[in-house]
Amino acid sequence: MKKPTILVTNDDGFHGPGLRPLIKAMKRLGRVFVAVPDQERSADSHSLTLHKPIRVYPISKDFITVNGSPADCARFGILWMLKSKVDLVVSGINRGYNLGEDIIYSGTVAAAREARILGVPAIAFSQSPDETSYAAAADCACRLAKETLRRGLPPGVALNVNFPGAQDGKYRGVSAARLGRRIYSSNISRRSDPRGRNYYWLGGKDVKWIKAVGTDVNAVASGRVSVTPLHLDQTDRSMLETLSHWEL
Ligand code: MN
Repeated sequence: MKKPTILVTNDDGFHGPGLRPLIKAMKRLGRVFVAVPDQERSADSHSLTLHKPIRVYPISKDFITVNGSPADCARFGILWMLKSKVDLVVSGINRGYNLGEDIIYSGTVAAAREARILGVPAIAFSQSPDETSYAAAADCACRLAKETLRRGLPPGVALNVNFPGAQDGKYRGVSAARLGRRIYSSNISRRSDPRGRNYYWLGGKDVKWIKAVGTDVNAVASGRVSVTPLHLDQTDRSMLETLSHWEL
């Protein structure tokens, strides 16, 4: 079989701690190209830069940084760098989980979603923020990418993967899981800047994990890697049926 072409992107940017481990792992599978933001763009969601110029800086022949969002990077990498000749897009490995509703804010997931919109199979990888186990995560990412290349993904479906902290470089297993819930602090703090003006900070440190069986949150809480298939089509089918009874 021809060596696959893999595009690596992320939202932690050029200096993201999970980028190089993921590049190294993907090089075991195929030809690797890299397009990443030139600075951290975490929680950038799925923004596209449409109203100002995008600058691209070559790091090497197959590696560029972009002064844009993660979705910009996926789009530019696929359409311009690789002329759509790409077999898989991987995004990450993000510093910190993207579980449950995190995927709405996540730039890591958005880059994978953008790839899927363009018809390319894609996986988002995120891990525990402890930073001790990127090697284990990259190793597992390699196996998941290999299996994805072998089996393909249905149209409109991308994978969202989360790695817990590894124990002695190992996980307790890998679970297929649906999205769960974590509830963030609803705290908004008001502080005063050195010039006496108020500023605000959204959200505190506390996160409550809802450990429902079968969810990504529960899998990761019990030391297992979670793999969640995400669909681009967010239509709620049962509400669609309900709407047919509304007087619209
Ligand atoms: Mn990030």
